[in-house]
Amino acid sequence: MLTMETISPQTRQTKYCTQIERIIAEFGHASNAEILAELHQTFPDVSATTVHRATARLASRGEISLAPADPTGAMRYDSNTTPHDHFMCTHCGLLRDVDIADKVRPLLMAEIDGCDISSRITVSGTCKTCTTQKDIA
Ligand SMILES: [Zn+2]
Ligand SMILES: [Zn+2]
Repeated sequence: MLTMETISPQTRQTKYCTQIERIIAEFGHASNAEILAELHQTFPDVSATTVHRATARLASRGEISLAPADPTGAMRYDSNTTPHDHFMCTHCGLLRDVDIADKVRPLLMAEIDGCDISSRITVSGTCKTCTTQKDIA
């Protein structure tokens, strides 16, 4: 027999997972810290541990995927679960999905005598916003 006590933690977990998925979908890419900050606006009591557990569970289910870490090394999640490549700004950490694989992969493979490339490509640099700010400064 199920009591309210045994049902409620599960229900709460599902509620957080749904919210977390929504946040990642909205941001495109998000770290646990960013998700926690956003979630706090609706659920002030939610803990970092809850967010860590929920994102780990969502990732293991394949509902979200791992994105390249931010410049501080913090793990980030991706709402796009289809394998894809990224551009990352090393100054502000901006992450953008890029569609270069079809063009770049054959060139890289030719360079390495036809060895097959299975990893995703992350190109890093300075985003437009950061370039403009550097020009002003
Ligand atoms: Zn930037
Ligand atoms: Zn991505």
